[in-house]
Amino acid sequence: MRILLVEDEKGLILTLTDRLTSEGFEVTSASDGQTGFDLAASGEFDLILLDVMLPKKNGFDIARDLRQKGIQTPILMLTAKGETIDKVLGLKLGADDYLTKPFEVMELLARIEALLRRSPQSSEAPANGAFRFGDVGVDLRRAEVTKSDQRVDLSAMEFRLLQFFIENRGTVHSRDDLLDAVWGYDSTPTTRTVDVHVAWLRQKLEENPRHPQYIQTVHGLGYKFTV
Ligand code: CA
Repeated sequence: MRILLVEDEKGLILTLTDRLTSEGFEVTSASDGQTGFDLAASGEFDLILLDVMLPKKNGFDIARDLRQKGIQTPILMLTAKGETIDKVLGLKLGADDYLTKPFEVMELLARIEALLRRSPQSSEAPANGAFRFGDVGVDLRRAEVTKSDQRVDLSAMEFRLLQFFIENRGTVHSRDDLLDAVWGYDSTPTTRTVDVHVAWLRQKLEENPRHPQYIQTVHGLGYKFTV
């Protein structure tokens, strides 16, 4: 697994490179935002650790520009203490998770593992990133969805939920599992959040949302996506 570390604190680069390498990761580091962005844009990494305050190009701009380019590599943002607004902004701009400095390396490793598990590269995503069911087309790489060739607007969480369903189709998922897998284990949403997002997805994608053909309710257990 290849990790790109974009960070300008020399000490942190050394410590993290050392530790991640000993955990078996291949680490490449960049100490300014522009170099980091150029490396990340190659799409050759499995995960990006991204500092916010960086010379030349900040972490938010990097995350936003990568997503705009269609680069879907998971991004774990490293924010400074107390930057609550930053963390919200970061997630909105395309980061997948964040960690506040200073952090324990064990915590970082846990987050990295969680992100890599969720990442399309490590699951059975279709090789070309395209998936079809009925008259719905999903481009997993570009995060674009169409129905009858018309663009469908999905929120980030709706898309992530749909992506999870596609990559884990045919399996029954409990609401708790979906919360963990899609929203993340330290999130505050309740299982009701899952129901609401499922309802929205059905509304946007199913022919008859009241009698869904693809996103099915398995009574007493959860949901299942079948094609
Ligand atoms: Ca910094």
